[in-house]
Amino acid sequence: MPASRNILVLYTGGTIGMQQSAEGLKPASGFAGRLRAEQERQSQLKLPSWQFRELLPPIDSANMNQTHWLAMVQAILTGVEQDGCDGVLVLHGTDTLAYSAAALSFLLLGLEVPVALTGAMLPADAPGSDAWDNLFGAMQALQAGVEPGVHLYFAGKLMSGANASKLGTASLDAFGVLPRLRQGQRVPSIPAALGYRQPRRTVGLAVLPLHPGIQAAQVRAVLASDVQGLVLECYGSGTGPSNEDQLLAALKEAHARGVVLAAISQCPQGHVDFGIYAAGSKLAASGLVSGGGMTREAALGKLFALLGAGLSQAEVEHWFALDLCGERAD
Ligand code: ASP
Repeated sequence: MPASRNILVLYTGGTIGMQQSAEGLKPASGFAGRLRAEQERQSQLKLPSWQFRELLPPIDSANMNQTHWLAMVQAILTGVEQDGCDGVLVLHGTDTLAYSAAALSFLLLGLEVPVALTGAMLPADAPGSDAWDNLFGAMQALQAGVEPGVHLYFAGKLMSGANASKLGTASLDAFGVLPRLRQGQRVPSIPAALGYRQPRRTVGLAVLPLHPGIQAAQVRAVLASDVQGLVLECYGSGTGPSNEDQLLAALKEAHARGVVLAAISQCPQGHVDFGIYAAGSKLAASGLVSGGGMTREAALGKLFALLGAGLSQAEVEHWFALDLCGERAD
């Protein structure tokens, strides 16, 4: 694994760089100077050289959307292809850090340079903050050599960007990869249509968890909201209300008009296997494609990368069912 010596630090906002205001913590610019000053204070650390870029304005990652993901891709490609960076560190708020790590995992398929994302639970200037440990730890991991692909670094752990989730809010060790069965078929190589050079546009996507008592009208309302892809969070191994004909009809109709319906398990350690229960096969027959053991973050990011590339419903379903970067195969 090649060592990164010249890292692009891409600052997007988040608690890591926030400063106190009258309304509470607010995203703040000027993080490059603070990073340089801290590096001087911790001069015993061996760190790679870095260049700094900022997505403006810096945001609380609760405001993250697909346009920001596309802007991150552009900034990363500029850093790698024009400025010669051989590693990328994205600084990001923790609330949607795992979503962005998953989306970038699919948007940057084929990029030969490792990308790590990190953030902090406490602002860099707060007592006991995890900001500098996470930031310098991620830099050192890149410097030591990390596989190309997208990773999430947090609290000393380097995780797969396509499989990590935010699991807590109370401890500094807030991220993890839960053991969901990942047994998909790996694509032998990434076709150009799925690679990082493929232009993408924003698409209408939604996530809907099933729950006892869910009404066909509610499912219809979501599907009527101009969505091209829906992540349906099913029960257990991929079941849902199989006696609700109206609900199944709503799914079937949406599928017939081109909406991609992706099923994942709402169990934190679950995976979809439609064949086990009749209630699962009825759902599958409504046009759902199984997400296997993918997380919600991965399913959403993958749908975005595939639909955003302008692929047809059948093509999206084909690639969604295969493993592209470890999201559905260990
Ligand atoms: N709300 C913050 C954000 O996601 C939380 C954090 O960074 O920890 O930007």
